[in-house]
Amino acid sequence: MSEVSKVYSGTVPALTGVSLRIEPGELVGIVGPSGSGKSTMLNLLGTLDRPTSGRVDVDGFDVSRLRDAELSALRARRIGFVFQQFYLAAGIAALDNVADGLLYTGLRPRERRRRAAAALERVGLAHRAGHRPHQLSGGERQRVAIARAVAGDPALLLADEPTGALDSASGATVMGLLRELHAGGTTVVIITHDREIADGLPRRVAMRDGRIVAYSAGGVQ
Ligand code: ADP
Repeated sequence: MSEVSKVYSGTVPALTGVSLRIEPGELVGIVGPSGSGKSTMLNLLGTLDRPTSGRVDVDGFDVSRLRDAELSALRARRIGFVFQQFYLAAGIAALDNVADGLLYTGLRPRERRRRAAAALERVGLAHRAGHRPHQLSGGERQRVAIARAVAGDPALLLADEPTGALDSASGATVMGLLRELHAGGTTVVIITHDREIADGLPRRVAMRDGRIVAYSAGGVQ
């Protein structure tokens, strides 16, 4: 993204003139106090929102040039999301929660379920495929959410405080999983408050008041 600003109506700017380049295959942490613009940045990277000004390119596409339908398609095929609160559908088996994440890919139901099963296997939860969210621990729920995010084999995985609701052992498992996905070639961007987690990442971007205030390692555009 280049010179990106975001102003929500009637509020102070959430982002001001932010330029950041994330290379394919990177693992990047975004750190900063609450309200510094981290989620806004992740939403823009994930094409969930458009900037007020500036340019956002994702996977080689200038987001401002895409129509909403094209943007949805790009998001469905190329980007996976993981959130602090998991957002799994209650009362629905893990396998179906993951398969439903592929609804907008155009794949047939049978293929969606096949890929969902493979994704659950990848996160070590094949044996929990029939469990509904309330039958799973917090860490397992987040692993199901990660399976859902990666079932479509996205190029970019965006995680907003993925360990924020977990105890430290489950958080470590989830971080291990995100690292594995990164090692397998997926670009991973993680928002975290957790200093220990942030310190363990190869590259960090620190934000404050809607601006990037520090970089560590990695390239900057
Ligand atoms: P962080 O993720 O670092 O906590 P956010 O990106 O959520 O920060 O928020 C940055 C700023 O933008 C904050 O001042 C926040 O109150 C404001 N903000 C975020 N989302 C909205 C919104 N949908 N409408 C209005 N203001 C918002």
